[in-house]
Amino acid sequence: MGSYDITGPAADVNMMGYANTEQIASGIHFRLKSRAFIVAEPNGKRVVFVNLDACMASQLVNIKVLERLKARYGDLYNENNVAISGIHTHAGPGGYLQYVVYIVTSLGFVRQSFDVIVDGIEKSIVEAHNNLHPGKIYVNKGDLLDAGVNRSPSAYLNNPAEERSKYKYNVDKEMTLVKFVDDESGPVGSFNWFATHGTSMSRTNSLISGDNKGAAARFMEDWAEKNGLPKQTGVASSDDLGFLHMTSVLPRRVSTIIPEPDEITDDLMQLASSYEASGGRRLEGSNITRRIRSSQENNAKFVSAFCQSNCGDVSPNVLGTFCIDTHLPCDFNHSTCNGKNELCYGRGPGYPNEFESTRIIGNRQFLKAVDLFNSASEEIQGKIDYRHTYLDFSQLKVSVSTSTGGPQVVKTCPAAMGFAFAAGTTDGPGAFDFKQGDDKPAILPIQIVRIGQLVILCVPGEFTTMAGRRLRDAVKNVLISGSNGEFGTNIHVVLAGLTNTYSQYVTTFEEYQIQRYEGASTLYGPHTLSAYIQEFQKLATAMVENKEVPTNIQPPDMLEKQIGLLPGVMYDSTPPGVHFGDVSSDVAANSNFRKGSTVNATFYSACPRNDLLTEGTFALVEKLNGNDWIPVYDDDDWSLQFKWSRPSKFSPRSFATLEWTIPEDAASGVYRLRHSGASKPLIGSIKHFTVTINANSLIQHKYGENFFLLTVTPPKSKSQQASLLPDPTIKELILGFHLEKRLRANFEQCLYQDFFDGRAAVGDLLSVCASGRGGAKQGASGGKAGRREGGFNEVKSPIAGTGVPVVAVCCSSLPASPTWTVWMKGGGPGSGWRVDLG
Ligand SMILES: [Zn+2]
Repeated sequence: MGSYDITGPAADVNMMGYANTEQIASGIHFRLKSRAFIVAEPNGKRVVFVNLDACMASQLVNIKVLERLKARYGDLYNENNVAISGIHTHAGPGGYLQYVVYIVTSLGFVRQSFDVIVDGIEKSIVEAHNNLHPGKIYVNKGDLLDAGVNRSPSAYLNNPAEERSKYKYNVDKEMTLVKFVDDESGPVGSFNWFATHGTSMSRTNSLISGDNKGAAARFMEDWAEKNGLPKQTGVASSDDLGFLHMTSVLPRRVSTIIPEPDEITDDLMQLASSYEASGGRRLEGSNITRRIRSSQENNAKFVSAFCQSNCGDVSPNVLGTFCIDTHLPCDFNHSTCNGKNELCYGRGPGYPNEFESTRIIGNRQFLKAVDLFNSASEEIQGKIDYRHTYLDFSQLKVSVSTSTGGPQVVKTCPAAMGFAFAAGTTDGPGAFDFKQGDDKPAILPIQIVRIGQLVILCVPGEFTTMAGRRLRDAVKNVLISGSNGEFGTNIHVVLAGLTNTYSQYVTTFEEYQIQRYEGASTLYGPHTLSAYIQEFQKLATAMVENKEVPTNIQPPDMLEKQIGLLPGVMYDSTPPGVHFGDVSSDVAANSNFRKGSTVNATFYSACPRNDLLTEGTFALVEKLNGNDWIPVYDDDDWSLQFKWSRPSKFSPRSFATLEWTIPEDAASGVYRLRHSGASKPLIGSIKHFTVTINANSLIQHKYGENFFLLTVTPPKSKSQQASLLPDPTIKELILGFHLEKRLRANFEQCLYQDFFDGRAAVGDLLSVCASGRGGAKQGASGGKAGRREGGFNEVKSPIAGTGVPVVAVCCSSLPASPTWTVWMKGGGPGSGWRVDLG
């Protein structure tokens, strides 16, 4: 296993995915990684699979990575046995693909984006190569129900009824996980494949993020580190997991807010106020920016990747689509609002907070992966093998059967886009504009990687749910029927989407006819999927017959032809008398903070493109321990955000804001923030700087004395509920399942359990849902956004506008008599507040 930082430029560069020219990176939520595994037979074949925290793989990146691997290892690694797959985050820097159509919004090719990805992939593979040890691999799979919904259900419905009846859901719910166990040191990592789009973060986000899959990987690697993996057995008890579920990820969990003794003492306050901000200081190099994770090198590394699959029509915005003007559900067939597509948006489970949606969808994948990891018992056995070829998709002949069942030869078409392409999806309207550039990918790689009974189909695009099912089934049939028993029913076929290069979407023939976004973005015409199936069947046949597959064509290497229009950093400056790193806005003196509150400070800074601080950090939270400051959180942590800004577009001045949301598992004590960066003078070389700020403000403690517990039973009717107004002094409330463990089994059926599992202010409308599994019914709106948009009163709830929080639970089955526990802050004992079980 191996991994390496590929975060890239955190300023000025357009983000890849939504093709929104205004979505420019300006900071980091958490870092992007390349994660790799290598599996090798002793003295036999080997395969490399790389999972990239990027929107998609890039042909040009592959070409350059393979050149470097050839220079290092000769023919050991090549295009046939290396697969590089993107997770489809829409929050990473763009400009690293070679076709103009995909980089036009990033002002062309961005060398810095490209280089950091190529470097990171190479380093992660080198690390995996150096870490190769004898070990075992296990495979496991299971359903994850609440992390994806179909975003083009009307297109899905055009598939034959008989075919649809074979499946319980209109998206694939299955996650397949492989667990790697070193014979000596125990578990060293896992990779899994699961289909859901990386669009939990919206098209207006500007912080670099791995979206839900990057978050899941971050959570799982942190979990492993916390549990002492890989040193110990590699099996976390459910208690450990429960602890993590509640505490390590974000403050918005309930179980840990039960009051604890207040640990803040006058001594501690005095100690804190004795420290002052250091002011900006010059550094000789960037060593001080080493991150906390890289300083823990005595721990063997645990690598966990969450890979993309047939996510073409799968949205993580599981609450459904709503019109931003009326808050009503969008038109089913066209995803429009009064005919306008630009008003229709999907809502994630943390709506209206996109970070929260990302965390929830990431957390769900993470928890399922841990579950599969802990219970994996089927050992992978058998050969390692692979087949790879390039195809010219602009003119492939495909045999299909006609409606009467007879054979017919058709052709794919040169890349073209349908009209609906411009309309975009409910995860973000608008996308690449083909008029801007006429070079399009035509030569595409397809690849099968086999590791025993696990077969990975590497496709260079976004297959829809049904397209992925057809391809997997077709290959499975060839492998089982042609292999003389080598493959049995225990074969696991997964589809790795967005792998090796990118050519947009692949729908079924029937979905293509509907011409929703995915159909309109299926580049090579209605028979594109049939062409894939036919060609993958050839690869599979070659594999079972032990024959080689000739490749007569190669994709173009267009590196020399790339044009970058993004200007470099001219220079950085500060006002007279101010140093780089000096504090512009400090934390208030003598303040103390609670878990869940946000601490921030702003510094005079410089453009992050001067030094990407790869494997380093722009932000640190340090804790006082005796006389030492120990780094405890860095810019790869969920809780710490690095936000960068300029006062105006061409200003040489800039600011860095560090924003730390204090996690539940942070210990009480004295903390400080540290920012590091590098500035570019008008003349001379780039200089590094760092600063620490005023420690005296950063004491924090648990939720305090104002909390009490109140148990309520659900009211029988809505009118009864409406008559029970809350105590007007209540300022904050937290809802959740008490006795969570006892009831958890029942709530597995609950699709949207997370969004009343957080904190809200009185008046926040958490959600209005239909009972049953169908999802939100009407005008659901986060209270804050609802009020801001004036939408709160429009919600047709019996208690709308009264300032009463409305909570509903979308469950297919509820426990017979649930006990709800409600925490309220500031209210007196006995103040009534009820939960509507609607
Ligand atoms: Zn997509």
